[in-house]
Amino acid sequence: MPPTVSAPNSSMEPRPNLSLVVPIYNEAENLPRLYERLREGVAPMGDSYEMLFVDDGSKDDGPAILRSLAASDPHVRVLFFKTNFGQTAALSAGIDHARGRVIVTLDADLQNDPLDIPMLVRTLDEGHDVVSGWRRDRQDSAVSRTLPSNIANWLISRVTGLPLHDYGCTLKAYRREVFEEVRLYGEMHRFIPAYAFWAGARVTEVVVRHHPRVAGSSKYGLSRTVKVVLDLLTMTFLHSYSTKPLYVFGGFGGLFLGLAGLSAAFVAIRRLLLHGDWMSPLILITAVLVIAGIQFILMGLLAEILVRTYHESQGKPTYALREILGAAEPNGPSASRVAESCPGEAA
Ligand code: UDP
Ligand code: MG
Repeated sequence: MPPTVSAPNSSMEPRPNLSLVVPIYNEAENLPRLYERLREGVAPMGDSYEMLFVDDGSKDDGPAILRSLAASDPHVRVLFFKTNFGQTAALSAGIDHARGRVIVTLDADLQNDPLDIPMLVRTLDEGHDVVSGWRRDRQDSAVSRTLPSNIANWLISRVTGLPLHDYGCTLKAYRREVFEEVRLYGEMHRFIPAYAFWAGARVTEVVVRHHPRVAGSSKYGLSRTVKVVLDLLTMTFLHSYSTKPLYVFGGFGGLFLGLAGLSAAFVAIRRLLLHGDWMSPLILITAVLVIAGIQFILMGLLAEILVRTYHESQGKPTYALREILGAAEPNGPSASRVAESCPGEAA
């Protein structure tokens, strides 16, 4: 919906090795210190980096500070949202515009420690596609934050099949190819490792430092946990059945029609052998089950049309390639995308 100001990744400059993506909403007091810490964090890693700050409609002095940082340091790029779209949208915009081979996301409030960045990138280079931070020693309120978060992490791990201790930690490192398959909605940035894992990525976690907030205030409370659980439901459904919805809807339809058959048979036997009534609640129940069964199957067929529209209108393949060996060049969009996006890996 927001107009694209410039096409993502369109610059002709060579890619930096590292993009730091930082979502910012009313963090003016933290920004000068954050910038210094980020510079210390990337210092051991050479000069090939960019800091991509995404201002999520801040109403404080943050935007002015960001402008002056961008004016004085060519490593700094800033995206300004027109209004507050939320942390997930901010991360998503930053990731779309990041040019780095590796993308590291972190919070602006200095609860995540920029000095952990080199360790994350090193772990990524050891052969992983996603390295997720684990705030083992988390410095947030136990009742309103840490406890619900532990429960949510347990649930997400069970449902997604990827056991991580801390999905909610923003400090994570990714290879840029990971994002080819991922679109983010709601509170879904925390699920990127699970999406990536489903698409075949190698995911690991490392313990990172965590500090109490010293300036500014947290933007969230307990209500976020509810949203996270709902997002988990959406995501799991979309993942499991997005290419074959008829299997789910058709399964329910078949079950209902089967139950209808049983209850109709029961009524018939009762009438013919035991001389009972034709008319009874069971006849109504049979009719309802038949109608519901047929509806389910028709919904499944409609969903099949939607899935085709979704994949074909966006040229989205129903698979994810890691690598293409040999000279055979692509007929489809997916193959050329992979070849373009990971030249280093295909070698
Ligand atoms: N944030 C944002 N948009 C929002 C809310 C938060 O960009 O609508 C940013 C915020 O500035 C911070 C990060 O997201 O950099 C995490 O927010 P916060 O520290 O409030 O979350 P918590 O650490 O308490 O979970
Ligand atoms: Mg925080």
